[in-house]
Amino acid sequence: MAPSEGVLSGKISHEKDSCKKRRGRSVVKEEKMAVSFKELGLVNTKELFAKAIKGGYAVPAYNFNNMEQLQAIIMACAECNSPVILQISKGARQYANQTLLRYMVPGAVEVAREMGSNIPIALNLDHGDSFELAKSCVDYGFSNVMIDGSHLPFNENVELTKKVVEYARQKEVTVEGELGVLAGIEEHVSSEVTHYTRPEEVEAFVTKTGVDSLAISIGTSHGAYKFKVKPGESIPPLRFDILEECQRRLPDFPIVLHGASSVLVKYIEIINKYGGKMENTAGVPEEQIKKAVKTNVCKVNIDSDGRLVMTAMIRKFLAENPQEFDPRKYLGPAREALKEMYINKCRLLGSDGKA
Ligand SMILES: [Zn+2]
Repeated sequence: MAPSEGVLSGKISHEKDSCKKRRGRSVVKEEKMAVSFKELGLVNTKELFAKAIKGGYAVPAYNFNNMEQLQAIIMACAECNSPVILQISKGARQYANQTLLRYMVPGAVEVAREMGSNIPIALNLDHGDSFELAKSCVDYGFSNVMIDGSHLPFNENVELTKKVVEYARQKEVTVEGELGVLAGIEEHVSSEVTHYTRPEEVEAFVTKTGVDSLAISIGTSHGAYKFKVKPGESIPPLRFDILEECQRRLPDFPIVLHGASSVLVKYIEIINKYGGKMENTAGVPEEQIKKAVKTNVCKVNIDSDGRLVMTAMIRKFLAENPQEFDPRKYLGPAREALKEMYINKCRLLGSDGKA
């Protein structure tokens, strides 16, 4: 055997060993991290949604990726006494580290309690794209997981969603499915065009999968560039006919709206004033959201508006205070503005005072 081969094969077997060790470590780690959402002080969405449907409001689902966003959400909802769904996407898990996020959430629950607030808090995986990811989140203490098989053919979507429901059910974790595809871009999810939900598929999907809630596509859209409208053109209204037909077929079944940010003009203007360049942005008008929450819609996802507020406030602060370099100085005001925006959203959804 040539010396080089020996070195090579030795290296390969060493790599195999370390792979095995790594895999072993990750199994041990996963077992160590396994926890029920109840131990983290969280609730699933069952009762949250039942109350929301009865009360004619929607529970806000706010995404977070870092401490300041999480603080703003918790402080806002505790202050206005709103139930809340904290949302973590696959991208957030990769960005902030799943272990760190897992420990931040019970910290946030504790902060709410220290504020004297008893608001119900759920933790949701936003746009889970595989059984393995959904399972991992169930095991890590999420109280709700979304499995998004909306890009798959109907039967495959049913199969994937059902598999997640069966696993989650054992741990009392609730599951959100999706039918229809939203236009726009959100991290790993993107589509050029809207594929509206077909109400005739909704009943079969819910019955076959056993999902607890369903995201539908009625014209909302992901991101800050929701509608391709020219200046002066009006934004197309949401398809309330689809929503009403879903409601007629499945009375009292929880419906979820994604991509429901309004892309607040005030913050777009600040961004552009202080060096940003965001043109032709468009969001869902707040009156449309207000109308939607009177129906079965009981969860409304807001992510883009939070991103815009932070970016606007950080740009403004740094432009006005070029000598500053302490992150607390610019993240602090951003967090404060974010909190105010979340309180306004809770009021819009009618969830304030409903905890
Ligand atoms: Zn979404």
